[in-house]
Amino acid sequence: MGKIWTQEDVRQLLVDTGKRAGLDCSHVPVEISSKMEKTMGSFLFREKSGMITPHAFRFAEVLLSGIYAESVVRNVIIHEYAHFYANVRDQENHMHDEVFKSTCVMLGIPDHTYFKELIPPVKKKGYILVCSQCGGKVAVRRKIDAVEKILRMKVSRCCHAKIGYREGVY
Ligand SMILES: [Zn+2]
Ligand SMILES: [Zn+2]
Repeated sequence: MGKIWTQEDVRQLLVDTGKRAGLDCSHVPVEISSKMEKTMGSFLFREKSGMITPHAFRFAEVLLSGIYAESVVRNVIIHEYAHFYANVRDQENHMHDEVFKSTCVMLGIPDHTYFKELIPPVKKKGYILVCSQCGGKVAVRRKIDAVEKILRMKVSRCCHAKIGYREGVY
């Protein structure tokens, strides 16, 4: 288990990084989201008539939950600060271009975006099909239609018995 991060811990790291880099971000709200599934962090901003206005830093709840090493979490947080820094300083959306990458180097973090790999597989509800004779697992299906079809058409391979099912998360 890694360290569990509070919102205040995240804010503090962003503020410290801002001091170090010379571009303050303490006015930008920090949000924690339980709904982020595809990214670990993002820097949200508005772009209007050539002006970039910071809106928020947002991080996935799972990132802060203690399952990742502290250094990994720091890198993700500072990565989002780097977006803030490059975009706000230049009033230009640099995305992951060379300016952004040199900002990462300046901040002492890797300049690649590997954060997709950090996403744990999302468990979803489904159905576990079991042999009614021995209780052994026969198959899993996400959709009830598919379950009903198997129940109608098939018997278990292990005991040639009827197949039953229960709900499960996997
Ligand atoms: Zn990024
Ligand atoms: Zn069986």
